[in-house]
Amino acid sequence: MAILDCLIIGGGPAGLNAAVVLGRCRRSVLVFDTRKYRNRWSHGMHNYLTRDHIPPAEFLELCQPELEKYGVQVVNRMIVRASRNEEGLFEAYDDTGECHLSRKLLVATGLSDNLPKLPGFEELYGKSVHHCPYCDGWEWRDKRIAVYAKTKDGSELCLALKNTWTDDVTYFTDGNRRIKASTLEYLEASGIRIITEPVKGLEGTDGLLQDVRLRSGELVPMDALFFVNGFTQQCNLAEAFGCAVGRKGAVITNRSQQTNITGLYVAGDASRDMHFVVVAAAEGAKAAVNINKELIKEAAERKRTQLKEDKGEMAA
Ligand SMILES: Cc1cc2nc3c(=O)[nH]c(=O)nc-3n(C[C@H](O)[C@H](O)[C@H](O)COP(=O)(O)OP(=O)(O)OC[C@H]3O[C@@H](n4cnc5c(N)ncnc54)[C@H](O)[C@@H]3O)c2cc1C
Repeated sequence: MAILDCLIIGGGPAGLNAAVVLGRCRRSVLVFDTRKYRNRWSHGMHNYLTRDHIPPAEFLELCQPELEKYGVQVVNRMIVRASRNEEGLFEAYDDTGECHLSRKLLVATGLSDNLPKLPGFEELYGKSVHHCPYCDGWEWRDKRIAVYAKTKDGSELCLALKNTWTDDVTYFTDGNRRIKASTLEYLEASGIRIITEPVKGLEGTDGLLQDVRLRSGELVPMDALFFVNGFTQQCNLAEAFGCAVGRKGAVITNRSQQTNITGLYVAGDASRDMHFVVVAAAEGAKAAVNINKELIKEAAERKRTQLKEDKGEMAA
């Protein structure tokens, strides 16, 4: 079985950017991807120069010819388990049972958002319902924005929206009445309306939010909604390997995206930095350069050992 230089799990911006850098380093690389990229719900991506408002599917489509140019193949299969064999090689099994061997492993499997279970939510998500104000706040500047959160993180989001994008922010706590007195003071001083009554659902048409419906039946007219409801790793391969994980579930890496497991790298949303496409892509590039450096060092070491052995044999 051929040994790959690097196997990449996840073909979002992090995995694909790593793949293109490694491809240009003439490394043998295979990317496995299930096409469940985190922003697949989004109508258009922002904060990535030259690609303003591009639908995420189109962005990923644009990557394909570049990857092919450098000999990188993307396989649309899931990696279901991975381990390390006695020779120190990574063994990754895809969902057809096929095993793939590699010297290095990059996990770029992203996150999965916990979507509030509200009627009407999924129809509006990515169009007028969002989680990140930096990704989508501009589109709703000076409009009526709802914040939906049952946890204390909601107040931070309210203040961010109020002090950056709009004057009109309403905080829906969906039944949570336990807001700290000091937090209430901040919210009230900033003119943020708080509605603690439970939310029954979201109403709108063609992806555009019109009202937040309360349990009493009252409709509160709104143009957009931002929420905080947490997220989880999309796949637990890195954790299963014994990678150190932080308090919020992100895999801990050093500045080169290397985890505490030698040869295993994690990049993109699955690791600890900010959740942006450009950051994920940059982390992929950093991981790739460091993977290439390690491969160079290991090849030089193998040659040195070989030479020593050859010389030893000649002397004997
Ligand atoms: C609605 C929404 C809108 C957003 N808008 C923006 C925006 O405007 N600008 C911005 O910068 N960021 C935006 N983001 C954030 C952005 O989506 C992420 O930061 C980015 O996608 C992270 O890239 P990634 O490569 O780490 O992970 P992802 O893009 O999530 O890619 C991970 C890939 O790994 C694959 N995968 C997972 N497990 C396996 C496995 N076991 N085997 C094979 N494949 C696997 C998945 O199918 C997926 O394709 C948005 C996020 C959301 C949810």
